[in-house]
Amino acid sequence: MAELTVHPDSIIDFLVRLLNTPSPTGYHQEAIEVVEQAFRGLAIADLRLERSPKGALVITWPGERDDAPRGLTAHTDTLGLMVREIKSNGRLKLHMLGGYMWNAVEFEGVTIQTLDGRRYRGTIVPVKASVHIHRGAGDEKRKQDTMEARIDARTSSAAETRALGIEVGDFVFLDPRVEVTDTGFIRSRHLDDKASVACIFGAFRALHEAGLRPAQTVTTVIANYEEVGHGAAAGFPPGLHELVAVDMAAVGEGQNSDEFSAGICVADGGGPYHVELTERLRALAEGASIPYKLDIYPYYGSDGEAYWHAGGAAQVALVGPGVDASHAYERTHTDSLMHTTHLLARYLLS
Ligand SMILES: [Zn+2]
Repeated sequence: MAELTVHPDSIIDFLVRLLNTPSPTGYHQEAIEVVEQAFRGLAIADLRLERSPKGALVITWPGERDDAPRGLTAHTDTLGLMVREIKSNGRLKLHMLGGYMWNAVEFEGVTIQTLDGRRYRGTIVPVKASVHIHRGAGDEKRKQDTMEARIDARTSSAAETRALGIEVGDFVFLDPRVEVTDTGFIRSRHLDDKASVACIFGAFRALHEAGLRPAQTVTTVIANYEEVGHGAAAGFPPGLHELVAVDMAAVGEGQNSDEFSAGICVADGGGPYHVELTERLRALAEGASIPYKLDIYPYYGSDGEAYWHAGGAAQVALVGPGVDASHAYERTHTDSLMHTTHLLARYLLS
């Protein structure tokens, strides 16, 4: 078996940079640029990097052979918000991008980006935020109508807010609050799915540094619309034989996944993944002594399914690092990143 080195520091450095780059679904340019620069930095001579018309990054690495081409995908788009309405008190009613609980963003810091590129800081607060004013404020259900963005600028009317350049449709970025602990955890919003992008980066680096290339030509789509269901529906060449979607394993009560293994998803809300490709990945993990966890994610869909629904004919499987409290304030561990990276590298070589 080929000797491979996975570098945790370079994977985590890239991951932290990506986490700190805002990219709610629909606002992808900055993050896709960060990813493109990182892959260019690997200096793999025949790596081809292109942008699809809708803004995804499509990376092609010619393999030893090209008779059964493969695909990988992970997504840079994340949860976020948009300005829905400028309220008469000058605050903002918000429209969710992606699916999550309003509780998960309560009191989170945000950045509001205007059309002309100005940025304002703010906070998502309940309309009834102060216990000194509202009895039982904590009991009120958190929903669109009971939450608002408080802007850190002097405004108490819709006209004053509009004078700041803020308008309906402006993107609102959630603070990721990235923290890498000395115990090996990475705590942040948006590990879904930036952690997986970092794993693909690490796998490419491991192969290239070992003087190797993939066994089959591989096309990687770094998608920008996964959270709304159509990220990797486009971007792959015709004739693809296999597609491994790389996305977070859902960790929590009743789940088999954890933050210390590579997750292999056998089925999710969209049904089972392809049995043969899933079994091959499992055998690769066994053969290289990579800790892995098989699991089912009940309320989950992936870009592998988006590809299938768009008419894709390849076998599709799903692997990824374990993420706790997904679509809220998430957490994973370096071990899960390393094992997922290693599994991807073994797959590329197989
Ligand atoms: Zn995801």
